[in-house]
Amino acid sequence: LEPKEEFEHSSLAVDVMRPRRSDPALAVLTQEGMTVGEVEALVESTHYSGFPVVVSQQSQRLVGFVLRRDLLLFALYNGRKRQEGVVSSSQVVFTEHTPSQAPDAPPPLRLRGIMDLSPFTVTDHTPMDITVDIFRKLGLRQCLVTHNGRLLGIITKKDILKHMAQITNRDPDSILFN
Ligand code: ADP
Repeated sequence: LEPKEEFEHSSLAVDVMRPRRSDPALAVLTQEGMTVGEVEALVESTHYSGFPVVVSQQSQRLVGFVLRRDLLLFALYNGRKRQEGVVSSSQVVFTEHTPSQAPDAPPPLRLRGIMDLSPFTVTDHTPMDITVDIFRKLGLRQCLVTHNGRLLGIITKKDILKHMAQITNRDPDSILFN
């Protein structure tokens, strides 16, 4: 891979990130307020490898990133067994402290432990040659894209390979990466 050559025409992170304008919105989890049932539904209705965690849908401030695998393996189904009293209507909590709940609410499912607290991010205007460098040097599988501190999108290694294939008119599988 010769990033300088491939990206001479200066693509930016925003050109490669998902979702595209016509795609469904980025699938995110909020750090509090979602129920176990809602998180399960999101995980089951999508096939993404991971989900950014944000402060709230409205703020879209990034808090961390959770892998689908960890949600499925450790959290949702087993979590119900491991953390006593957790049911579908339990609140999923990624914060350090449990938010106040109604006295009759079921116990929350605490998942801060499975969250990556500092996922890699680039801004929407980061040139792709720099982003590719970061992917290669750090061996990233995905990177989040922000604008003024708000989460905008995600770039996976495959997104980069597809983009490079497109601009060089090559088969993505023929491009060496990492
Ligand atoms: P890969 O790109 O290796 O197949 P994923 O399955 O995670 O990895 O992602 C598939 C596609 O969906 C990629 O184009 C990626 O940018 C996008 N994507 C990944 N995670 C999310 C998400 N949480 N919400 C919306 N789109 C996502």
